[in-house]
Amino acid sequence: MSPLKARLIARIIAEGPMNVAAFMGAALFDPVDGFYPTRDPLGADGDFITAPEISQMFGEMIGLWCVQSWRDMGRPARIQLIELGPGRGIMMSDILRAAKVDRAFRAAVNVTLVEASPALEAVQGRTLSDAPCPVSWAGSLSDAPAGPSLVIGNEFLDCLPIRQFVKKDGEFYERVVAIDPDNKDALMFALSPAPDTLEDFSSFDAAVDGDLIEICPGVPQFIDDLTERFTGYAGRALMIDYGPAQSEVGDSLQALKAHTKVGVLDEPGEADLTARLDFEVLSREGRYGGLAVYGPAAQSAFLKALGLEARAALLGKSAPDQAEILSRQLARLTDTDQMGDLFKAICLQSPGLPAPAGFESVDESV
Ligand code: SAH
Repeated sequence: MSPLKARLIARIIAEGPMNVAAFMGAALFDPVDGFYPTRDPLGADGDFITAPEISQMFGEMIGLWCVQSWRDMGRPARIQLIELGPGRGIMMSDILRAAKVDRAFRAAVNVTLVEASPALEAVQGRTLSDAPCPVSWAGSLSDAPAGPSLVIGNEFLDCLPIRQFVKKDGEFYERVVAIDPDNKDALMFALSPAPDTLEDFSSFDAAVDGDLIEICPGVPQFIDDLTERFTGYAGRALMIDYGPAQSEVGDSLQALKAHTKVGVLDEPGEADLTARLDFEVLSREGRYGGLAVYGPAAQSAFLKALGLEARAALLGKSAPDQAEILSRQLARLTDTDQMGDLFKAICLQSPGLPAPAGFESVDESV
């Protein structure tokens, strides 16, 4: 049994069942035995792979997007480039390399990385040891320096702990993690004995008995942090993640270990846990907060609008032996049966800025 599972079982015996968010938070971020603080889980040898790890072209496109965004903001002398959940720091390294197209931009950049895992922070430090601009770390978005900002994050919001509720007799009961009465070494899902009376379920009016719905308390918190940051200074955020454009009911919590799906409750601390991002909720919260929202755009449309295909062709011409690898990378990032459709980009920005690059294919909602 994983050390964290033993501790969670002891905690449930002492305190009673815990909700899914508490379980997910412990599994991912327990400082001693959590998944992220104890390892570097990314890449082919790890547990899962992400777009920046698949191809340098991904970060390069985001780099060009950052340069254009800085120009759209009127080229401020200092721009805070803040990345949430930077993993191994590869995307930031590709961004800064691509950004050499505009030396004034690179001279203006101050990078802040927001990372919860000491293990990954150390890897980021190595990846960015010769970065062409200052790089530092902050514990949260609100701790990053104030000023005109670009906030970016790839597969960050899918790690924020979610709560789950099941509709029964017209009311919502929270799903909790309990000990299996038939096997005291096993965890199982159960429902709270009483319906929840505090949460606002109004966006789930269409749910019927038996449906499971998910709420991510970190999303409104993230929007609050953005609106606070973008008050008084221009700001633009670009978040890329997987999930539906419109809210959907259903259980999306999943665990990945060594690139294979495992049981969510089987090995807390040893497997990555994520849930799909509800882009409808994120955009709605953003608009309520007074931000202008663009997208979500499918990752494939977004990257192609930024010139991904031309970049692949150029790289292939200068290194013909790499052409096949590059076209495979292009396919992984953009094909509809790979990451192209499931992954989406969304931009949230302070009012008054021009439309961001990359969202030309989708209806704008300001
Ligand atoms: N963006 C990277 C890594 C994605 S994995 C990539 O695309 O390759 C998720 C990352 O977010 C990890 O670096 C993880 O440690 C970090 N993370 C998740 N939740 C966090 C939180 N609440 N605060 C800070 N970092 C967090």
